[in-house]
Amino acid sequence: MSRQYYIAGNWKMHKTRAEAAGLAQALVSQLQDGKHKYLVAPSFTALETVGAVVKGSNILLGAQDVAAEEQGAHTGEVSVLQLKDVGVQVVILGHSERRHTYKEDDALINKKVKLALKHGLDVILCVGETLEEREAGQAEVVCESQTIWGLSGVSAADLARVTIAYEPVWAIGTGKTATPEDADAIHAYIRKVIGRLYGEDAAKNICIQYGGSVKPDNAAQLMAKENIDGALVGGASLKAETFVPIAKFA
Ligand code: PEP
Repeated sequence: MSRQYYIAGNWKMHKTRAEAAGLAQALVSQLQDGKHKYLVAPSFTALETVGAVVKGSNILLGAQDVAAEEQGAHTGEVSVLQLKDVGVQVVILGHSERRHTYKEDDALINKKVKLALKHGLDVILCVGETLEEREAGQAEVVCESQTIWGLSGVSAADLARVTIAYEPVWAIGTGKTATPEDADAIHAYIRKVIGRLYGEDAAKNICIQYGGSVKPDNAAQLMAKENIDGALVGGASLKAETFVPIAKFA
């Protein structure tokens, strides 16, 4: 298997620049012997500060969103060019909070995916069903549709710069984790969808992270599953003492 474990921390709307720098410094020193791929995604205001700390380390700098347009009259938005200007390498798109709280639809997310890839950023595309959808037996179909839509118009070459994060909405920030078996089943299904769209090699190589209440005490069981290639971590990424054990799961 050529896939590498990829552990990412989404700091959401937390931390001043000083707090963010402190956490980034702790991660740089404690993860320097880490064997996997790592990313932190601070708020826009802390990107430059954290970028200076993680520069030259094994931790990538990510943003939590990007505008769908390159530039122009878009009050409050941050462009892909501005993200690149402060050293961002990866952007998280389609997070459930963007989809559900801020009503981003698949067409908008797809526009952002293509724009980010066009400008050389890597993408973590989040997909996942709500509790209502899961209870109605629609988890697979929702993830399939969000994957297909999100990747519409993305070439096979560009797909190599895309990671999918399966994040069941009911498991985000709730303390409820999908069982490793349930998560693996959806990951396998998403991998099958990628195979149908891009072929077997792409399906084998694509990294699919799990997100939703990943903690130090459940990370290893999740990562042991064949189709789970890493984690997108929210709450537990806000402290080195909880993120490092996840990042170094044994
Ligand atoms: C997330 O927001 O991407 C997430 C998975 O959050 P948490 O780990 O807090 O559930």
